[in-house]
Amino acid sequence: MLTFDPEGLSWAQRDGDACVVCHKKWPRPRIRVGRFPDDSSVLACQDCAEALLPAPLATVVAFPMR
Ligand SMILES: [Zn+2]
Repeated sequence: MLTFDPEGLSWAQRDGDACVVCHKKWPRPRIRVGRFPDDSSVLACQDCAEALLPAPLATVVAFPMR
């Protein structure tokens, strides 16, 4: 779980009313991508969440050993 620094974010982003990445308020961000130091949720819209969070598949790709 990522921890975000609320410094530099707007009140809407801190409140979960706007996407933490692109500031979009509509559609309302719904994906929890991390938390603030005070343990409240950091929300992002679907597109940004996919960019922020690595795809689960990527972590299991193994390089062939020689
Ligand atoms: Zn976004």
